[in-house]
Amino acid sequence: MKLGFNEATALECKGQSLLADLEMCEKYGFDYIEIRFDCIREYLKEHTLEELAAWFGSHHLKPWAYNTLIYFNQRDEAGEKEIDEEVDFILKVSKAIGMKMLITVPAFDVKDKTVGEIKEEAVKRLRYLADKVGKDMKISLEFCGAPNCSINQFGTAYDVVKAVDRGNVGITVDTFHFHEMCSRLEDLRAADGKKIFAYHLNDCEDLPLGSCGDDKRLWPGEGVVDHAGIAAALKEIGFDGVCTIEEFRPAYYEMPHEENVKKAAEVTRDFVKKYFG
Ligand code: ZN
Repeated sequence: MKLGFNEATALECKGQSLLADLEMCEKYGFDYIEIRFDCIREYLKEHTLEELAAWFGSHHLKPWAYNTLIYFNQRDEAGEKEIDEEVDFILKVSKAIGMKMLITVPAFDVKDKTVGEIKEEAVKRLRYLADKVGKDMKISLEFCGAPNCSINQFGTAYDVVKAVDRGNVGITVDTFHFHEMCSRLEDLRAADGKKIFAYHLNDCEDLPLGSCGDDKRLWPGEGVVDHAGIAAALKEIGFDGVCTIEEFRPAYYEMPHEENVKKAAEVTRDFVKKYFG
């Protein structure tokens, strides 16, 4: 299992930037980084994709995924055009730096749509996007554990991915999201391990289910997420990819940038050792 860092983890730390994250991730032994949509845009104000490609070419750390193509489904015509433009940008970045995946999240607050209608439309949209990115680029669907997210449980997201039936479309398991909307371990155990494209690691405060925002995330092991259950299920289905820490906690943003990344590396390494050996 490789170690990954999602830029959300240190996003608001003083001195944070894509370059600062790269340097610290390299220093503390991460294998991969998930690059955020806002961080890459900020980087490109003063740097070029060629510079970024050269950085990755001369370091151990590699780009894992683009995070995130926001709200791929249930969009109007203007919204779908925005998605197309964003995907064009992602493809340009990915080709330049050798990144092979984008993560996408579903729309929120789609009133009066049944789960069946949502699934059907999501399948259509993901097939369209899978064709657009081409088979060398993967798309990972990340369900969000909020009551008002259109796809908010593992089982629903997996049904969509299965129906899409493309080799380059899979799913992200974010442990916070898995916990928050009571996704079922039996659904995870029944999944194909090769369809798990990303594994987002974090924990969650002991608050009523479905009530937490991302700011209630904790370092893994400090909350109430059933990590033993999720990790055992992932092992059982043969998942062996990248375990990526992803936090959004204001208190962690108060830490000096380097301390944040250092701590993130320690907890991710300890977690992987404990559950995956
Ligand atoms: Zn996530």
